Amino acid sequence: MPKMEVDVDRCKGCYLCIQVCPKKCIEKSDKFSKSGYYPAKDSKEGCCIACQSCARICPDLAIRVYK
Ligand code: SF4
Ligand code: SF4
Repeated sequence: MPKMEVDVDRCKGCYLCIQVCPKKCIEKSDKFSKSGYYPAKDSKEGCCIACQSCARICPDLAIRVYK
């Protein structure tokens, strides 16, 4: 099943990924990361279609998408 994962230690909380996801599968986490950001996270299982838009736009290369 397609899914995306955010490396929370790389994420800087810019939320560009949330803006580009065509399926609205990404949301802001309510937990602080070690670096002091609220990282992005997948919002619901089975939502992702592995289009890679989030991984392509992330300036911090924090997203991996699995098919
Ligand atoms: S685009 Fe990358 S750095 Fe920005 S919120 Fe998403 S995962 Fe974090
Ligand atoms: S790969 Fe596409 S569908 Fe999946 S979370 Fe990223 S932008 Fe959304």
